[in-house]
Amino acid sequence: MSVQHVHVIGAGLAGLSAAMQLVESGVAVTVHEASQAAGGRCRSYFDKELGCRLDNGNHLLLSGNRDAYAFLDRVGARHTMGGPGAPVFPFMDVANGERWTVRPNAGRVPWWLFSRRRRVPGARLREFLSVLALSRGGPDATVAATLRPDSSKPGELYRRLLEPLAVAALNTPPETASAALLGAVMGERLALGGAACIPAYPKEGLSESFIDPAVAWLRSRGADVLLNSRVARLQQAAGRITAVDDRPLADDEAVVLATPAGIAAALVPGLQAPDRFEAIVNVHFRCDADPGEAGFTGLIGGTAEWVFVKPGVVSVTISAGNRWADLPPVDLATRVWSDVRAVTGLQHPIPPWRVVREKRATFAATPDQDRRRPPARTALANLVLAGDWTRTGLPATIEGAIRSGCTAASLLAPPRPNHVGAQESKCRARP
Ligand SMILES: Cc1cc2nc3c(=O)[nH]c(=O)nc-3n(C[C@H](O)[C@H](O)[C@H](O)COP(=O)(O)OP(=O)(O)OC[C@H]3O[C@@H](n4cnc5c(N)ncnc54)[C@H](O)[C@@H]3O)c2cc1C
Repeated sequence: MSVQHVHVIGAGLAGLSAAMQLVESGVAVTVHEASQAAGGRCRSYFDKELGCRLDNGNHLLLSGNRDAYAFLDRVGARHTMGGPGAPVFPFMDVANGERWTVRPNAGRVPWWLFSRRRRVPGARLREFLSVLALSRGGPDATVAATLRPDSSKPGELYRRLLEPLAVAALNTPPETASAALLGAVMGERLALGGAACIPAYPKEGLSESFIDPAVAWLRSRGADVLLNSRVARLQQAAGRITAVDDRPLADDEAVVLATPAGIAAALVPGLQAPDRFEAIVNVHFRCDADPGEAGFTGLIGGTAEWVFVKPGVVSVTISAGNRWADLPPVDLATRVWSDVRAVTGLQHPIPPWRVVREKRATFAATPDQDRRRPPARTALANLVLAGDWTRTGLPATIEGAIRSGCTAASLLAPPRPNHVGAQESKCRARP
């Protein structure tokens, strides 16, 4: 029997993406979101203390994130993304103040590796070849063991580019992070050349780019998006979900479960899912600074890792943040402000600040946690899973979350050509 109505549980990117594809396939959709706002881990909110709107954390998108851009195209929000418009990654070494900018050339042939003005200073060419080993190391290989087998001497390429990129992409210390997952990211972006590595971020906010347009898109096409609507129970019998809370499901109804991993595991007894997580810490300072060429700078050797400059706010990201769990916020803000002063040249005392710790920002991208990721299809006939923690082949990212939603939707209803029309704008579903 074909599916006529789907309950999507969770209005993060995965749930929204599934809902949009289902609507395009002609299926009626009800989205249940527990919070008062959609967006989950990718959202904006008004911070009363700082008196301005903030993102829950800085999010960077690369032009190679095809499914994320297909999502933006679908809801007409591509124009809300900003950035340098070219593959430009400025860095600064906090220890000695040295600055450089990595500028991959557009095509697949990486001639930028030979250009002193474009590559990492001090990096040796043979170090670049180590990147090829990422996809060959097998499922148990870690990033550090693959990229710096001689652990006593990290090369400059590792210290000044690969390590910061790996920590940002996987949100996991390189010593335990999966080489295969980093290889997947590199394969979809760096290996395709600079044209796939153009960084972008919302001009205004995550909700304004991704979430509000998607909710409006869904509602304008007749989908119900219910906020403050927490699903507490999925009843099952005879190999299918029979009720969402106390609402019985007809034979032609199905469920996309798009909550975070821990909640999905609680709603579906016996579901194996990642159970170790890493924090991401963001420290926001209420001040103005020069955004520079890219709007952000990567810091080497500091507490801060990526410093984003936006109008009225300087926001700092620290990934793999479990190591900072016990440091009081004031101490963390003070340490990070010293890095911000170094990179921006600001001289004044610490301005109003806010530390935001997303304790369960992503699953820990280790080989053993990667193995715990379930596929979208479940043993229950009318239940599919979506979320950045499902088996997308990617780490927990915007791209992975959106792709997981497309995969889940495709299992319930065959996708129709979407409104954008272009072949390349379709999601790469991965059943
Ligand atoms: C600080 C931070 C920085 C990040 N930076 C980047 C970045 O630079 N680039 C990048 O690509 N990715 C980044 N990510 C990762 C990205 O945000 C996530 O991968 C993505 O948002 C996950 O989407 P999701 O839909 O899978 O899950 P979620 O966003 O967690 O959505 C799940 C939704 O389910 C809802 N829910 C939970 N329980 C219930 C229930 N019982 N009933 C109904 N609803 C429920 C939740 O409220 C939530 O809205 C970052 C994440 C964080 C936290």
